Amino acid sequence: MELSSRVQAIKPSPTLAVTARAAKLKSEGKDIIGLGAGEPDFDTPQHIKDAAIAAINKGQTKYTAVGGTPGLKSAIVAKFKRENNFDFDVKQILVSCGGKQSFFNLVLSVINPGDEVIIPAPYWVSYPDIVLIAEGKPVFISTGIEQNFKISAQQLEAAITPKTKMFVINSPSNPSGAVYTLNELKALGEVLRKYPKIIIATDDMYEHIMLTGERFGNIANACPDLFPQTIVLNGVSKAYSMTGWRIGYCGGPAHIISAMENIQSQSTSNPSSISQAAAEAALNGDQSCIHPMVTAFKERNIFVTEQLNQVNGVQCLSSQGAFYAFADARQSINALYGKNLISTQNDIVFSEYLLEKADVAVVPGSAFGCEGYMRLSFATSMENLKQALSRIKHLLK
Ligand code: PLP
Repeated sequence: MELSSRVQAIKPSPTLAVTARAAKLKSEGKDIIGLGAGEPDFDTPQHIKDAAIAAINKGQTKYTAVGGTPGLKSAIVAKFKRENNFDFDVKQILVSCGGKQSFFNLVLSVINPGDEVIIPAPYWVSYPDIVLIAEGKPVFISTGIEQNFKISAQQLEAAITPKTKMFVINSPSNPSGAVYTLNELKALGEVLRKYPKIIIATDDMYEHIMLTGERFGNIANACPDLFPQTIVLNGVSKAYSMTGWRIGYCGGPAHIISAMENIQSQSTSNPSSISQAAAEAALNGDQSCIHPMVTAFKERNIFVTEQLNQVNGVQCLSSQGAFYAFADARQSINALYGKNLISTQNDIVFSEYLLEKADVAVVPGSAFGCEGYMRLSFATSMENLKQALSRIKHLLK
């Protein structure tokens, strides 16, 4: 029995696959250090868990409105005002089962077959595949370490065609850790201003994980006149260490939000009522619970960058946001290939080499559309990072 062409066009998430592979080797008794994880290694703060338990005890265990409870939607409206200075009405808000579903709903609501979606690379692994599910065409803009993994206004202009329907921007970026400055966003905005039909999707999932002390700002902060064509995607997964609770949310033009809600009503219906109560407590509660996590990420970022730059043939910029180091391993890959230590000159074989010979799991850059790099998550203990970096240094020396 044949599968749909839609499903044959996509692949399972490579980052989840690395995590699964490392877990399997671990269960077989190997001392693997997994640096593939895309989630904070902290527990969900207690007051958030308490809110969920209270919701269960109060009987909030039934369907809710498809697009989110009134309480959570109001908390999101208030959050957008307080932290981002955006004025959204509740009709412009949708709560979904994770940031991934928010993006999925958006793409399914606005992309027709053949429509182009501009995605700067390296990119979060799910953007292109979700576009492919909608039979859209991902159009990549390549960047590398030479340009700090940020696209220029000229590159954006060159990528736009009459078929461009959407532009995706993710800052702080998974995987590169790059953060666009307001001036860089203004330059991109100058291009987009000429194309009011292009939907701008800003994925602010790592908003709170700023590692430089700079204040977060997205493209609609840099260019307020672009707000009407912008969808702001966010969620509680990374900021509050709530990846398993599955709550993402977004704000945008009411007609798009309403279309997204329709899609959601015919797929998952509402996100878990209990998780919604927890997310409401997260957004309305004391925000200081985020600080210890960010402090730890800052410390680890300094350590990992310093260590990676001491590895033979590896170069790494200090991350400005999120919790990943994205290192250029091209020289190291070439050297290993030259010595016949790896069979193919690419980052997939390179990361398999690291897994087999150093027992360290990293994600190859090609998973993110950036061949020759590797992503190391520092959402793990300092102890693990010390061990892992020492093993990599030793193997590649
Ligand atoms: N956006 C980015 C850039 C991400 O890295 C992730 C998760 O890894 C998400 C969105 C989705 O987050 P979730 O679906 O876990 O809320």
